[in-house]
Amino acid sequence: ASTWANVPQGPPAILGITEAFKADSFEKKINLGVGAYRDDKGKPYVLPSVRKAEENVISSRLNKEYAGITGVPEFTKAAAVLAYGKDSSALDRLAITQSISGTGALRIGAAFIERFYPGAKTIYIPTPSWANHAAVFKDAGLQVEKYAYYNKDTIGLDFEGLLADVNKAPNGSVFLFHACAHNPTGVDPTPEQWKQIEAAVKAKGHFSFFDMAYQGFASGDIHKDAFAVRYFVEQGHNIVLSQSFAKNMGLYGERIGAFSAVCADAEERKRVDSQIKILVRPLYSNPPIHGARIAAEILNTPALYDQWLVEVKAMADRIITMRALLKDNLEKLGSKHDWSHITSQIGMFAYTGLNPDQMDKLAKEHSVYATRDGRISVAGITSDNVGRLAEAIFKVKG
Ligand code: PMP
Repeated sequence: ASTWANVPQGPPAILGITEAFKADSFEKKINLGVGAYRDDKGKPYVLPSVRKAEENVISSRLNKEYAGITGVPEFTKAAAVLAYGKDSSALDRLAITQSISGTGALRIGAAFIERFYPGAKTIYIPTPSWANHAAVFKDAGLQVEKYAYYNKDTIGLDFEGLLADVNKAPNGSVFLFHACAHNPTGVDPTPEQWKQIEAAVKAKGHFSFFDMAYQGFASGDIHKDAFAVRYFVEQGHNIVLSQSFAKNMGLYGERIGAFSAVCADAEERKRVDSQIKILVRPLYSNPPIHGARIAAEILNTPALYDQWLVEVKAMADRIITMRALLKDNLEKLGSKHDWSHITSQIGMFAYTGLNPDQMDKLAKEHSVYATRDGRISVAGITSDNVGRLAEAIFKVKG
């Protein structure tokens, strides 16, 4: 028999949606499955600031030597300032490494916790969470537990449930928080709620792991979107953080991100940094340089940085506009449901509240493709297709 004769067939990943979409011959079909920004023509978008930065990088004719284990320092320094803020007390006690986008940062963080966290090697993630969280953490050897997050009756935050679960977890547990634009629900705590979450986390001596995959992309304001991260640090939490530049710079395939750990002081930073290097070296030795150079060029060149802020905001604004248009269209059709969650949710995704059967109907009868949990990628909505989308949702749900 073949060596791999006993390898079982795995289930299809999320990409099943893309395949079904491709196989559909209807010309007005709509794909709301992809987690990537599209312009108002439904096309992938390369930010003009990224084009310019890339031209600058290429015309500098830099060499292709290896970066160090923790990546391109001009990038990681600037990424830290972006996340924590230029006046943050965290900056001179921060261990940071470039990573293979947000996913790689999560994986490094998980491995670091698995190796060094002094308490239980268990991480609490929200219900629901990004589908890959549990897989990343389990593969890194952590135990995964869930905390309440989403209330399907209100299509909003289950704030009471969340606090109850924070209080119920054994003291000193590790909690994963989505810094902003919670995926898949689009439901974020308000700043006031974050303050209460922080107080509960502190009272229990929990440890916070923030996943910030959408800084700037959620509200259009990089500072507003970093509120929770910065607030926790101000309140004395030495958090760990995963950052991604996939969404806010549209650098998806460049795989550019960062993992950082706020340490007690510079001496601790040095020890933590040495162990991050020991973790990363056998994983992939050192990260790719091109995306890091592009991001660094944007973050460190004032004119490009200002341009980028405008472009991030434009992406966020287009998404916010599409949310409003979808809601308006549903109301105009006479839908009696309360669709206010569509506009109060934030970021790339919206939870429609449609059930799996209704989502199947959307696909089969209306050629509208998205995941069966009712999540739609608002980035896939355009001025052109929003009317037809609203009609399809209205026909399926009323
Ligand atoms: N965390 C969350 C919550 C995400 O939604 C994503 C991307 N969909 C990621 C992390 C990581 O993405 P990437 O590896 O492309 O940066």
